[in-house]
Amino acid sequence: MQSFNPIRMVMLGAPGAGKGTLSRRLLAKISRLSSISTGDLLRAQIAKNTDIGKTASGYIKSGKLLPDTFMANLLTAELSKKNWLNEKASFLLDGFPRTAGQAEQLSKALNPHKANINLVLELDVPPEVILDRIANRWIHPGSERVYNLRYNPPKVPFKDDVTGEPLAKRADDNPETFKVRLSQYFEELKPIKQFYAKEGVLRTVSGETSDIIFPKMLKLVEDEFERH
Ligand code: ATP
Ligand code: MG
Repeated sequence: MQSFNPIRMVMLGAPGAGKGTLSRRLLAKISRLSSISTGDLLRAQIAKNTDIGKTASGYIKSGKLLPDTFMANLLTAELSKKNWLNEKASFLLDGFPRTAGQAEQLSKALNPHKANINLVLELDVPPEVILDRIANRWIHPGSERVYNLRYNPPKVPFKDDVTGEPLAKRADDNPETFKVRLSQYFEELKPIKQFYAKEGVLRTVSGETSDIIFPKMLKLVEDEFERH
């Protein structure tokens, strides 16, 4: 009989590194895994015009990170709402933590539940590849499904495959904002990696496309969590 250990996973990757696409693919393969994307959470709040959304929109438009404590509270509330603050739940975090401060706050929230992060996967994609990819990225605003006009175009041009609704550019996928996001990512990356390397849970997967990265990532997760 197979037995499974809980997966409490963080995905680190530059904007456009494929965090969203790769999470979706991993979730499709590993049925006990569910995810939270803080970027998606914030965009949903903006769409509903809530107080959180109003605070978030200015930061997102300019490509800046929201304050650590604000984000840590938002994430912890979501974990609690989903009933994932316990040692049995499996989850994948996409877009959190973004700073070492957030990593520390997350660890403080999980510690009392004996549920610390047990895998941090760094997606290492060359910056030139990322820049090119962002220029071609379109999304379906309702579902956050991502398309790339070059690599995975929609079946009907500029329409979502599932709903047929029109695709859109993300407000922060323009060259100026993108530069801010990218340089911010690399600035914060080192301290986050140090934090998780100390805990012994950091792994890095390199590749130019999600098709190259995905099988490596899947194997790593299976090797680490599925014992026969
Ligand atoms: P991609 O979706 O291509 O991986 P990304 O990582 O830049 O790109 P999101 O994760 O969707 O995009 O985040 C979009 C924006 O939301 C960020 O630029 C930032 O302003 C805000 N944001 C999301 N998560 C956090 C976080 N953990 N801390 C601070 N700000 C955040
Ligand atoms: Mg994302």
